Amino acid sequence: MKYATRILHNGNELDPRTGALSIPIYQASTFHQPDVEHPGAYDYSRSGNPTREALENTLAALENGTHAYAFASGMAATASALSILEQGDHIVATEDIYGGSYRVLNRFFNKFGLETSFVDMTRLENIEAAIRPNTKALFLETPSNPLLKITDIRGAVAIAKAHGLLTLLDNTFMSPYFQRPLDLGVDIVVHSATKFLGGHSDVIGGAAITRSPELAKRIYFVQNGFGAILGPQDSWLLLRGIKTLRARMELQQQAALFIAEWLRRQNWVTAVYYPGLPDHPGQAIHRGQASGHGAVLSFKTDAAARALAIMKQVKLWSVAVSLGGVESILSYPVKMSHASLPASERERLGITADLIRLSVGLEDPEDLVADLEAGIR
Ligand SMILES: *Cc1c(COP(=O)(O)O)cnc(C)c1O
Repeated sequence: MKYATRILHNGNELDPRTGALSIPIYQASTFHQPDVEHPGAYDYSRSGNPTREALENTLAALENGTHAYAFASGMAATASALSILEQGDHIVATEDIYGGSYRVLNRFFNKFGLETSFVDMTRLENIEAAIRPNTKALFLETPSNPLLKITDIRGAVAIAKAHGLLTLLDNTFMSPYFQRPLDLGVDIVVHSATKFLGGHSDVIGGAAITRSPELAKRIYFVQNGFGAILGPQDSWLLLRGIKTLRARMELQQQAALFIAEWLRRQNWVTAVYYPGLPDHPGQAIHRGQASGHGAVLSFKTDAAARALAIMKQVKLWSVAVSLGGVESILSYPVKMSHASLPASERERLGITADLIRLSVGLEDPEDLVADLEAGIR
């Protein structure tokens, strides 16, 4: 079956009891056990819930995994997946990782003796150089946020395998529609399902997906033990959003490319960061590991004042945190997604006050361009 069909027909689309074309929202905390000696498939919704399970099985199918676990947010998924590591372990992570992931590694997990080195993973030798005797995992994010830097997934996995390390990858920007890291040897994929998977800016959720039964057991232990589960209502919203994943990704990508090309022609734009542009660094590597380039891009203006003026004047674009929804969003990484990074670190990474990140939605791209243009007058 082709991938586009599998998004809709993966064995989790029908209510097995009634045939309803939408999985019911099993808004229940607990389940009657007719035979106490032989408990049924569900006993308590922290441990398992039919709506959440339909979502988890769908996500496993879409990432070509075998096991998926849905969490209350992308950060809950990331933090729960990282919790399979032990005190004294060391992680090597992408330096321009999502700000919340940086914060949880640098200010939370470190308290429990889990150390992280942040490196520029666009150069594989930096990964190799950061590995220590106690390194246990690589944590990748590609394309990265907000400068869309590309890490060679196969190359990073080869280094991890040579050193016996786990690899985790945050696949939020591409979604499984464009990039399926488990096929490239990654052990655990994490998502902020809040973004493209949900797609409608109406739910916060996350997921961790693997094809290793052993890792699955460890992640489930954290999901059930720590309890940062996704509720049935939110699980249903994600199931519903995922049905249109292909249509959204294709159209939003098309519009993103149109806008990236337009931005590149403007004399007040000094740089455009988008893996869909032929001269984007790492573009060839990205094309070898993903089937598309997504709908998120960033650009720098000739002055911070210009960036601020655009954000104050746009009418069609929302100025907001988040990305991946059907409505176009313009965000300001310095004050939003990357505010939790120290200023010196932001400066070093090139996350400057003249940088704007765009998440392109389903509006007509010509209207979106006209709205940006109005902002610079
Ligand atoms: C938003 C985001 C997260 C965090 O997800 P939440 O659902 O907000 O907790 C993690 N990684 C990336 C790349 C994100 O964009």
